[in-house]
Amino acid sequence: MKRIALFPGSFDPFTKGHENIVLRGLLLFDEIKIAIGYNSQKDHRYFKVDFMIEKIQKTFSKYSQISVISYSELTAELARKHGANYLLRGLRNTTDFEYENSIAQVNRHLNKDLESVFLITAPELAAINSTIIREVHRYGGDVSALLPYEL
Ligand code: ADP
Repeated sequence: MKRIALFPGSFDPFTKGHENIVLRGLLLFDEIKIAIGYNSQKDHRYFKVDFMIEKIQKTFSKYSQISVISYSELTAELARKHGANYLLRGLRNTTDFEYENSIAQVNRHLNKDLESVFLITAPELAAINSTIIREVHRYGGDVSALLPYEL
């Protein structure tokens, strides 16, 4: 049976930290579906979903095992639809751990076949944070070193 993992997140924007989690995930899974979650009722995103899909697709164009989708439903439900038995997530620090711990419990409650798998961030990428990148970009700062594609 194919090992399919979902890598869900806001990815607003997708960073070099996220890229590192995906590339390391390829050693564990046959397929990784990067899933950009958004709220269809109120879209507060800084980078539009379609724009981000295009950038992520370009980043991984060499890899046929990696695809990108967007969704506006329960992650556990999306995983079921895509035959994914694994949720891939990254852990930077204890704040991430607290948050991830509760989401993983809920997701397993909602979908018994879903196992969350966490990769510890590479130390040189641990400080990369989408919120800070948005702020720097908003005021005209150069964020190109933190992203795996050109804006
Ligand atoms: P969410 O809104 O679901 O937290 P994010 O786009 O912020 O979505 O993050 C998606 C996943 O990537 C989360 O598991 C998060 O902990 C992880 N992540 C975020 N930044 C980094 C980074 N610099 N290195 C590794 N993992 C990261």
